[in-house]
Amino acid sequence: MKTEITIQGLAASLSPARSARKIIGFVPTMGNLHEGHLNLVREARKLCDVVVVSIFVNPIQFGPNEDFDSYPRTLEQDQRLLAEAGCDIVFAPSVEQMYGNKPRLTNITVGGITDDLCGLQRPGHFDGVAVVVTKLFNIVQPNYAFFGQKDYQQLAVIRQFVRDLNIPLEVIGVPIARAADGLALSSRNGYLSPENRAVAPKIYQSLKAAEQQLQAGAALPDALQNMKAALTEAGFAVDYVEARAPDLQKIEQFNQDIVLFAAAKLGATRLIDNLQVKYPAS
Ligand code: AMP
Repeated sequence: MKTEITIQGLAASLSPARSARKIIGFVPTMGNLHEGHLNLVREARKLCDVVVVSIFVNPIQFGPNEDFDSYPRTLEQDQRLLAEAGCDIVFAPSVEQMYGNKPRLTNITVGGITDDLCGLQRPGHFDGVAVVVTKLFNIVQPNYAFFGQKDYQQLAVIRQFVRDLNIPLEVIGVPIARAADGLALSSRNGYLSPENRAVAPKIYQSLKAAEQQLQAGAALPDALQNMKAALTEAGFAVDYVEARAPDLQKIEQFNQDIVLFAAAKLGATRLIDNLQVKYPAS
């Protein structure tokens, strides 16, 4: 496995694969890798001849009061895990390598689906994601790009601009990897105190409880209200609990497959999770 830190170096490393028309798979990450990321790499390994993983903590997707400075950076450990998972090339550029030192005057805003859920709490976040992912797509030029369903709204945003802008690659969504107690794996879980780590799985439990209530015939607003109450009771500061159609359109009742979403803070740590709920076949 090679690590490249410059765009030119990466281009040189990928050049033989491109000339040989090999299938290139790409997994963008911010590092501090866990099984969730490694699952994406394994999926890429199955489908592609060459697997590229980027590790880049992207400053423009963090708000002014968010954790850009303190975000965990663990490159050596990540390199070990990636080599084991079958990655061929790690791309770990600096902020200067990605953004240069001249001002950036181009933005990418995906409308509609970024207006609520995490878009409300994190203004500009999805623009920052869209810009960096587009830059990385242009740098790597993969055939397939792999993203986790953990960040469901992000995956929808990426699918949308790939379609809208005719970016020539296929986006693959990969299911959420969870700890044994149900907590969705996240680099931010490391911020949790032992006490809060013990409480954190309640976010998944509340999603599963809402699923059961809905499938037993509860009204959607009631199930959401119960989720919110359970999380508040457990000590979370709830950002939102919501239900959407799989394409993120608003819904009023549970009369089709839906996705339940929760975002809540435990102490200073913001956790997100979601659950796809099937409408019971009659
Ligand atoms: P991040 O490093 O947090 O930007 O995540 C990089 C990629 O890994 C994104 O596509 C995430 O959706 C995905 N990812 C992170 N955590 C998980 C998880 N628990 N399960 C599945 N995918 C994940």
